Amino acid sequence: MADKIVILGAGVSGNGTAILAKKHGYDVFVSDKSPIAEGTKEHFNKLGIDWEENTHTLSKMQGAKYVMKSPGISSKIPLIEELKSLRIPLVSEIEFASKYTDAVLIGITGSNGKTTTAMLTHHILKTAGFDVGLVGNIGNSFAKDVAENDHEYYVLEISSFQLDDIINFAPKIGVITNITPDHLDRYDNDFSKYLKSKLRINQNQTQRDFLLFNADDPELNKAIKQIDTQATIYGFGYNSFDTNTTYLEDDQIVIKTKKEKIMIDTLDFTLKGRHNLLNAMAASTVANLLEVSKKTIRESLLNFKGAPHRLEQVLKIEKINFINDSKATNINSVYFALESMKSPTVWIVGGVDKGNDYEALYPLVREKVKAIVCLGIDNQKIIDSFNPFIDIILETQSMKQAVMIAHKIADKNENVLLSPACASFDLFENYEDRGMQFKQAVREL
Ligand code: ADP
Repeated sequence: MADKIVILGAGVSGNGTAILAKKHGYDVFVSDKSPIAEGTKEHFNKLGIDWEENTHTLSKMQGAKYVMKSPGISSKIPLIEELKSLRIPLVSEIEFASKYTDAVLIGITGSNGKTTTAMLTHHILKTAGFDVGLVGNIGNSFAKDVAENDHEYYVLEISSFQLDDIINFAPKIGVITNITPDHLDRYDNDFSKYLKSKLRINQNQTQRDFLLFNADDPELNKAIKQIDTQATIYGFGYNSFDTNTTYLEDDQIVIKTKKEKIMIDTLDFTLKGRHNLLNAMAASTVANLLEVSKKTIRESLLNFKGAPHRLEQVLKIEKINFINDSKATNINSVYFALESMKSPTVWIVGGVDKGNDYEALYPLVREKVKAIVCLGIDNQKIIDSFNPFIDIILETQSMKQAVMIAHKIADKNENVLLSPACASFDLFENYEDRGMQFKQAVREL
């Protein structure tokens, strides 16, 4: 009789895992607490995959070899406890999919910069001629790609939720971009639990593997010193020339591994901001470990376009520069956005606050921000935080209005920056919708 796998959630990772499991002969049962998309149900029916929607039926899960929990489902729901008491191993998509590929895995995790670093790494490897896929949190299912393409290399963007349910998963190269408070609601508001979850990227690495980490990040630096691992650890960052293997010197990224030392000029990079140089350091170190030439790394960095909604240059209107950073949903990412502004900035901020402490932004806001345009249903916390030192703070409740007002306040050679520090669900479907509406409103000015 075929082994049974239960898949909780019929989104991107659930769907992909179902396809891969079916390909390997499993008896697949997909269970979703919400309605499943019509197209997905049809696809399941065609493949002979059993499913249920709007409920979870425990009796149908008994005897399963694995339960794959989609990352969006909290591990706190009673069903998970019940499955644990049945001793069915809980795995994430990356755990399950990695069993069915021999590909070299590059796993990228962290609080901010995952998508950019993953895209950049993928771009360099692709330019160098590697057979490489870009999967994970970024929106493409790893499991589905393994079923359909099984590339020789994968760049995997990994969230902490995916790392929570691993057993043997081990990337050849793991990257931790940084660790700052985010999603703490899912970790009992305990930063150390969240940190621990990110460090699991290293849990099964052996002496043939590499762990790259942002050595400028104090919490991460402390944590890395304490881990017990066989993997080779490389730090990247601006500080600590003595211990880092990748750092910046005279506008050049220097990569100094055991084998060699290479230098890459950064002056003509299209990506802006200090944070993006960190992302570039991480991606180039990965490429260097995989023996991509310095020339290819440099050329790829030069023509990388950047990901939309991340400090994305939109338009210049009457010499006012409009920048879309809708993906900035926490304080740390806004910090880097403001830091990279070279002239006075009208800052559009607000949405659903995930527990922000705005104090870390005070010095930068004083230095760079000319006016604040709040865009959210409840803006009180933002107003209270910045009222003491920003004269112009205005409230708006639509993107069109926010952009029009910001345009009026900004002068020639200044910036209008959408960098919300908050989630988007009060007024928008998601951060992409928010960013698209911003771009549309700018184009209509
Ligand atoms: P993630 O996938 O981890 O959410 P993204 O690359 O999508 O990261 O970037 C999210 C936000 O964080 C954007 O506003 C971006 O400009 C900013 N950002 C990108 N890289 C970094 C970094 N290394 N440190 C801090 N913020 C960053």
